[in-house]
Amino acid sequence: FFTTILMSINQIINVYPQLAKGYESIISVSEVLFSTQTVEYQGKKKLAEVNGKITFEHVNFHYTDSTKHVLNDLNLEVAAGECVALVGASGAGKSTVLSMVLGFYRPNEGRLLIDGVPFDDVHMQSYRRKLAVVPQNTILFSGSIKDNITYGMQDVSEERLQEVIEMANLQDVIDDMPEGLDTMIGEHGGKLSGGQRQRIAIARAIIRDPQIILLDEATSALDNVSEYRVQQAIQKLIKGRTTFIVAHRLSTIRDADRIIVMQNGTCVEQGSFEELMNNKGEFYKLKQLQA
Ligand code: ADP
Ligand code: MG
Repeated sequence: FFTTILMSINQIINVYPQLAKGYESIISVSEVLFSTQTVEYQGKKKLAEVNGKITFEHVNFHYTDSTKHVLNDLNLEVAAGECVALVGASGAGKSTVLSMVLGFYRPNEGRLLIDGVPFDDVHMQSYRRKLAVVPQNTILFSGSIKDNITYGMQDVSEERLQEVIEMANLQDVIDDMPEGLDTMIGEHGGKLSGGQRQRIAIARAIIRDPQIILLDEATSALDNVSEYRVQQAIQKLIKGRTTFIVAHRLSTIRDADRIIVMQNGTCVEQGSFEELMNNKGEFYKLKQLQA
């Protein structure tokens, strides 16, 4: 029960970083947790296995406090193991797509399916156990580096931990710390750089061996060395897993199996990087704007 709450809090905080202030207090966060739509939308079907195919079928959505349509007849099928990069102007609905995959919001019309099962039928905790989020700004809590990686997991073996540290490219960070993995980090990870925090977030995701990854790429630039190490860690994390990346980095966009170009809550263009550049359509325009 406690683990489930921790994982849910992690997910909520990842998506709603403004809630992080209440993080230290499990009580106050669980109040937030239980007042959200996550519990309201509980289906019965517990998922033992998840392949990771996600389908959006004619999804219309607006937030409750506004009538503005944020998703407009969105149709999207992401195959198990596929990596899609969501690109588009600010406000296009990319983060909302991630929140929908998390099951935080439900469509006003249309539906979402996981491996062909409608979200309304799915027991959300069983589904979210197979899912990990790497947020834009990683929240670390006061505790050791090890605690921050294993966060919400029990009985992680030393071998597993070591394997995850290697995959997330964290060994150099840990070697530089006075007490290695047991080094306490300050509240919100004050002493770690942006790139180091991201790699901790990636380790936190890898260790749960999720089938589905939601990654909201940081917009702020990292130094070249960090950038390279983070990109390498991301590649290891997403291999063989269904991945939705809100992508800002050219390297990520190039490596994605498919790019989804969003505009006003719908997909206006999709394809590989080369296809979209050759088409000289919306993606091409977007790239020209950024250049
Ligand atoms: P993107 O990630 O592409 O920038 P978002 O999904 O964050 O786009 O936002 C899409 C639209 O939904 C924007 O108009 C934004 O203002 C609105 N929006 C996002 N989150 C909320 C929210 N929690 N409540 C109300 N409106 C929101
Ligand atoms: Mg966003």
